Amino acid sequence: MKIGVLTSGGDAPGMNACLRAVVRSAIHYGHEAYGVYDGYKGLVENNIHKLERNDVGQILNRGGTILGSSRLPSFREKEVRQKAVDNLKNIGIDALVVIGGDGTYRGGMALDKMGINVVAIPGTIDNDIASTEYSIGFFTALDTAIDAIDKLRDTSFSHQRCTVVEVMGRDCGDLSIYSGIACGAEIVITKETGYDKDYVLRQVQVAENLGKRHLILVVAENITNVFELAKDIENNSNFNSRATVLGYIQRGGTPSSFDRILASKMGVRAVELLIAGESGQAVYTDSLEIGNCPIQEALDVKGEVTDLYSYLQKLN
Ligand code: ADP
Repeated sequence: MKIGVLTSGGDAPGMNACLRAVVRSAIHYGHEAYGVYDGYKGLVENNIHKLERNDVGQILNRGGTILGSSRLPSFREKEVRQKAVDNLKNIGIDALVVIGGDGTYRGGMALDKMGINVVAIPGTIDNDIASTEYSIGFFTALDTAIDAIDKLRDTSFSHQRCTVVEVMGRDCGDLSIYSGIACGAEIVITKETGYDKDYVLRQVQVAENLGKRHLILVVAENITNVFELAKDIENNSNFNSRATVLGYIQRGGTPSSFDRILASKMGVRAVELLIAGESGQAVYTDSLEIGNCPIQEALDVKGEVTDLYSYLQKLN
């Protein structure tokens, strides 16, 4: 088989680790791998090149995507997609792995309907693909946000400030709520919690009455103007207040341990699905909820050999 792979939409740390896993596991199983550059744009423009094992060396720990990514709104048009299908057929590519967010999934599904075998992998910092508990890049972006908020807290404490931090995530509040929990933010505002400015101002006053020396407010993007909110807080409390927008800094950086392993496992799964003739599938993880059991049971249960050992040979 010839298996194509592309990264599309917003880039995310771990996309390279996933690309490496797709290429290496395809070769491991005796097939060929082809990289499509700049997402769906590369499919349409025939920017497709064979990748060997060494072409994906030294990228496991690199942020971004060496294949490049793009947004191509015209890919919604059938005639544009037909060009992509023709290009794939001319090279003899049987199947395609698409790594990206929900827009990328829609593009993949449209290709599937036109006769290309497609498997989609969640690669987005936003964690906004509901079918998977976590997407590739989410935890790295979370670590970046946590690092920034920890630093802001230092100065917030020193200056008795209310610090308002805007965190990315498109329409999904996960990055905000997770970073709020991990950094001990007093208030987190997301689309899911809803935004009521008066309520927020009252909460700031409650914190002030409790004698808090400083405050951290995490606000998801696209909720409100955080600079204006900081001003309103300053006008309605004794805190002075500053706003910081973390922005694109959250998208870059070396993927975390979790994202490298998630990306590697998902890449292998996608290739195995395509080899098995599956199409129109989306890979996901449903990581465990917190549970509990009797302590005796916890002592008695026998650990199983992890399946991670089987991945090693497929990735090298
Ligand atoms: P993400 O994958 O991160 O959600 P986008 O929403 O920008 O990013 O989608 C990436 C690309 O997927 C778009 O630029 C477009 O080329 C393609 N795409 C999105 N929606 C569709 C659709 N309904 N049909 C076909 N292609 C689509």
